Amino acid sequence: MALEGLPTEEQLLTFAAGGERIVAQGRVAIVLCLLAIPLFQVLYYQKLDADTLTGLGAISIALLLSLTYFVLSRRQDSLRWLPYVTSLSDVTLISAALSVYLVLNKPHMAVNSRVIWDIYLLAIGATAFRPRRGVVVTTTLVAVAQYLTITLYADLHWNLNDPAWAPFYYGVFNWPTQISRVVLMVATGILALAIIREVSQLSHLAGTDSLTAIFNRTYFTLRIKEETERAHRYHHALTLVMVDIDHFKNINDALGHEYGDKALIQVARYLKNGLRSSDILFRYGGDELAILMPETGAQDARSIFKRILDSLQQIARQGRKLTVSAGIAPRPADAIGSESLIQAADKHLYAAKEHGRNCIMPTGQEPALPDAQA
Ligand code: GH3
Ligand code: MG
Repeated sequence: MALEGLPTEEQLLTFAAGGERIVAQGRVAIVLCLLAIPLFQVLYYQKLDADTLTGLGAISIALLLSLTYFVLSRRQDSLRWLPYVTSLSDVTLISAALSVYLVLNKPHMAVNSRVIWDIYLLAIGATAFRPRRGVVVTTTLVAVAQYLTITLYADLHWNLNDPAWAPFYYGVFNWPTQISRVVLMVATGILALAIIREVSQLSHLAGTDSLTAIFNRTYFTLRIKEETERAHRYHHALTLVMVDIDHFKNINDALGHEYGDKALIQVARYLKNGLRSSDILFRYGGDELAILMPETGAQDARSIFKRILDSLQQIARQGRKLTVSAGIAPRPADAIGSESLIQAADKHLYAAKEHGRNCIMPTGQEPALPDAQA
């Protein structure tokens, strides 16, 4: 039985691939490695010529940009455009470095260079870390367009195979070589898309529950940490609701395990349908489910969940009512960290069971504490 509102591919891929933050760290590391090339040239030749200066200048700009992107990547969730901007700036910076050689009247370095052109492949390959096919395709197309423009410009403005250039330190110019470079750039883009597809399949297996098709506990553990950190950083509310089916063992015993499975899927569906798109539903284990409600206080969480409890009254399996109990734990009122938030919600769930089941705890009508009245 399929469930609507499955975890989106992007949610799962971010969980699997790590996203912009990994690319940002890798970019800083790669740029620092690249810095060694012009520095080595300066030390080896004991002079600072125009070519080395160009390399140093390009890498210094790259270092500045990569540090900026590293800082911005901490806010990758709110900056939806960041993967596009950083990927496009990566390839544009490489094209800019090649164009500088055109300005310096060194067209062979622009069209036949190896080290600088190879970085295109790194930049396109790194797009596989973003769970967005659009970023891969756009980056590959922009890189190819920029490189072809540089090559075409060089071919039209210089007679590149004129013996006056001899000896040809960077090789002679021919279009078959240039086209094979473009093919390699496209092939790297295709490889990045294939990696994203593979990661997508694996992350579905790793992050979803095979019975109910909602997120599983592995993803819950990761996500609750992220959400508590985000709530802490932006001073937002966050509420965790732990839900457990009442007397589920009896349903299994009376109607069979297969019926139990169907009932579990049905409860997951009712919960999913009753929640808002920003709420995240997980199967915590067995007949226990967890709901993370970002930017939601206890009062709102309770009224949303009360509606779900009412709709659940419609579920009756062979004359048996199917009910759930729930424990609500708002952050920061009940707990600060993810572990203690789970403990608090579990404690309230236990209280709901003790209170007779088919209810939410705390009820919200408890007498106010003396210090809260002050
Ligand atoms: P309570 O109201 O106290 O929660 O009573 P309960 O009978 O639901 O007790 P408990 O939550 O401890 O039991 C959970 C039961 O859920 C035990 C197990 O047989 C059943 N269960 C766990 N996972 C599955 C599953 O995937 N399919 C089915 N059919 N049953 C499951
Ligand atoms: Mg139960």
